[in-house]
Amino acid sequence: MADYYQLLGVSRDAGAEEIKKAYRKLALKYHPDRNDGSKEAEERFKEITQAYEVLRDADKRQVYDRYGEQGLRGQPGAGFGQGFDFSDAIEVFMRDFGGFGGFGDLFGQQRGRRGRAGPRKGQSLKVRLPLTLTDVMTGTTRTLKVAVLEECDACAGSGAEGGGAATPCATCGGTGEERVQMQGLMGRMVAVQPCRRCGGEGRLIEDPCKRCNGDGRVRSHREVTVEVPPGVTSENYITLRGEGSVGPRGGPRGDILVLLEVEDDPRFVRDGADLLTELPVTFAQAALGDEVRVSGVDEEVSVKVPSGIQSGTVLRVRGRGLPELQGHVRGDLLVRVAVYTPRDLDGAQRQAMERLREVETAAPDRIPRDEGRGFWSRVKEAFSGG
Ligand SMILES: [Zn+2]
Ligand SMILES: [Zn+2]
Repeated sequence: MADYYQLLGVSRDAGAEEIKKAYRKLALKYHPDRNDGSKEAEERFKEITQAYEVLRDADKRQVYDRYGEQGLRGQPGAGFGQGFDFSDAIEVFMRDFGGFGGFGDLFGQQRGRRGRAGPRKGQSLKVRLPLTLTDVMTGTTRTLKVAVLEECDACAGSGAEGGGAATPCATCGGTGEERVQMQGLMGRMVAVQPCRRCGGEGRLIEDPCKRCNGDGRVRSHREVTVEVPPGVTSENYITLRGEGSVGPRGGPRGDILVLLEVEDDPRFVRDGADLLTELPVTFAQAALGDEVRVSGVDEEVSVKVPSGIQSGTVLRVRGRGLPELQGHVRGDLLVRVAVYTPRDLDGAQRQAMERLREVETAAPDRIPRDEGRGFWSRVKEAFSGG
């Protein structure tokens, strides 16, 4: 496929607004409603929408800029795992720009199977998957029990009592579609919508199955397995294509969208792949320096606190943060040193403090920032060899 930036006709440093504008212009040009359902326009519409869907999302765009389309493909994460079809493109367009003056909802229902009578696909289901930072660190495989609609045994999914056949719909002559005049954004147009009598199926059931009331489906549960790659965030979702509910009367299975919810971990503040944690130290540790153990997500890390460190200084432990999604490196663990002022001193401590006060130098007007040594050289010093 062509370069996403080229497809949208924007430069590589185009801003979000420019990308959106460029996409909207092209999408209106190639929208299937304007092109008599031309296959070529449909394909083009899909391509530009896919490009837009990546470039509008800062994370996906970053992956694309670094690794190209390959980076987005073949990975179960980020909702781009298993292809992007025409109905996805329509959904994206509708999500960001709405329908063409009321026509949208109908079009949304049809989901890219325009003009073809037949069983409808099952609706997409959304399930939430709570994850811990440990899951994010290592990736995880989970089995989820999902409430779905399964084929009705009594009618073998046909919806007709005893599994009998449906009869062709007289209203639409079995085509499943109906032509209506619509007032759209760009004037009147003829739209094709699903036949209202048969719901677009082109068939009607005269004697509906008593168990499923003619729907062809019953409530059930289904176990699905979802593989969560390392490095995900709560912005990511995973699409399990064709794993959801069956459609009515023999329709194919819809998708399951697994919405990832990474739970807050009180020990850390997450910033992308970096993790920030606080390290309380005593006066003496700050003044004399020390080597301490700091909890990472799933390991302990040894951190050298240099002597004379000021409260609020951030020590960076390279590569001990979270893995990057689809990347090959790990972020950093940022350790923010906080000097703890003791309370409720006992006798010996008070004596030591009083002795310290007699001999200590007054605090300067401003806290020295170790100018000349630089943050990085200090960090390097602190972690040399580790
Ligand atoms: Zn049934
Ligand atoms: Zn009909």
